Amino acid sequence: MQGGRVEERSAGAVLFYNDNGVRKYLLLKHRRGHWDLPKGNIEPGEDPIETAERELIEETGIRKFKFYDGYREVIEYYYRRRGGILVHKRVIFFLVEALSNDVKISSEHVDYKWVDYSSALELATFRNTKRLINRAESFLSRAK
Ligand code: ATP
Repeated sequence: MQGGRVEERSAGAVLFYNDNGVRKYLLLKHRRGHWDLPKGNIEPGEDPIETAERELIEETGIRKFKFYDGYREVIEYYYRRRGGILVHKRVIFFLVEALSNDVKISSEHVDYKWVDYSSALELATFRNTKRLINRAESFLSRAK
């Protein structure tokens, strides 16, 4: 469809782990090379928080989490699918504490790292991902 665009809706999480008092964020290396947060498309009938939890389990193998109330951030971007179709994507992020750091990645990813705040800002490929992590760090610093 010329001039048309496809809409995608995903949900994901800024996932952190308390590593002996040091907060570490999880970044996943995508097959295509970028470092990103766990996320995935919202399936029909799913609440975004359910999507985030399902994707966390699928993409990290971790099963025990604590979701934080009061953090809900949305990012939007455009990309082109092979063939040229323009996609407008909206992703809602939750803030989640992992109660284990034992990660088993899925086939979508090729590597993972638990990194402290400043390293997470450096490693994350996209500016909007860095912003999500920055907001998470501020939220958690205030929550103390
Ligand atoms: P998922 O199933 O996790 O939503 P996906 O691989 O289908 O993943 P994206 O991760 O959205 O989809 O990647 C699609 C395209 O968008 C890629 O070209 C990627 O480089 C780009 N992209 C991914 N995340 C961002 C972002 N936060 N900001 C801008 N562009 C991004």
